[in-house]
Amino acid sequence: ATPTAVMVGTGLGAESGILIKSGESLETAHKIDTILFDKTGTLTRGEPQLTDVVPAQGTSKEEVLRLAGSLESSSEHPLGRAVVERARAEGIALDSVSRFRALSGLGAEGEVAGVGVVVGNRRLLSQRGMDLSALEDDARALWQDGKTVVFVAAENRLLGLIAFRDEPREEAAQAVAALKRMGLRLGMVTGDNRATAQAIARLVGIDLVHAEVLPDRKVEVVRSEQNGGHTVAMVGDGINDAPALAAAHIGIAMGGGTDVAMEAGDIALMRADLRLVPHAMKLSRLTMKVIR
Ligand code: ADP
Ligand code: MG
Repeated sequence: ATPTAVMVGTGLGAESGILIKSGESLETAHKIDTILFDKTGTLTRGEPQLTDVVPAQGTSKEEVLRLAGSLESSSEHPLGRAVVERARAEGIALDSVSRFRALSGLGAEGEVAGVGVVVGNRRLLSQRGMDLSALEDDARALWQDGKTVVFVAAENRLLGLIAFRDEPREEAAQAVAALKRMGLRLGMVTGDNRATAQAIARLVGIDLVHAEVLPDRKVEVVRSEQNGGHTVAMVGDGINDAPALAAAHIGIAMGGGTDVAMEAGDIALMRADLRLVPHAMKLSRLTMKVIR
């Protein structure tokens, strides 16, 4: 590779908002055949809007929001924030929380005014021995609609569920289509439910879905694709994406993401615009063509 071509390539990248950290990354990028995308905050806006509250028999929406909102007031997760916001908007007084624990990729638990409360996904509530069958039909319909569902339980009793919509970024389908035209294999990696993930993947045009992946397992998905003989780029925005960004042949950090992801990436996008991903791939291919 001539240093001049690499310099020109990285310079052109910087002008478009693509920070390529080393000439080597630019050279590796043109060999990429598979791109894995984190879902939340990368393919989607990462701003979940609360859409549904479904109480179980014998309880009310207010009670579900009160317990979940109280617990989540100790959480930093975007889903938690959306619950708190809704509870406040509805004028529901939130109780104090003790023994709060965030369970990465699963949910949260703690005591709300002395009552043991668990809020989280199906896996977490199943782990706690909860029977979700009373709300299974509701959950399934919401999942198939691309919504994220969390269940709420108090003192080991299922109280209800809360659903959220996190819209795909408006340019996601266009970026995916451009990458497909370049012949790239595209996949999604997410901690979210399989049906939800598949619904979002269908909306943006991604075929390969790795769902219900715990945060510390994202890196294993990258490795297994690499072991399958693929040269893999990973695109992510979150703290829990950093190991996967580092493990990938090329890690691409989404603009507006966490500093940790920005540091772990070989390429950092300066804007939260997925069209910069095909742009970076084209730039790398062009640069290498000039070099050879
Ligand atoms: P992603 O991989 O999509 O970025 P996370 O790993 O942060 O998402 O979370 C995965 C899943 O864990 C969420 O979809 C949700 O079901 C559950 N979860 C995590 N934290 C919370 C929380 N504070 N409240 C409710 N559910 C949560
Ligand atoms: Mg994310």
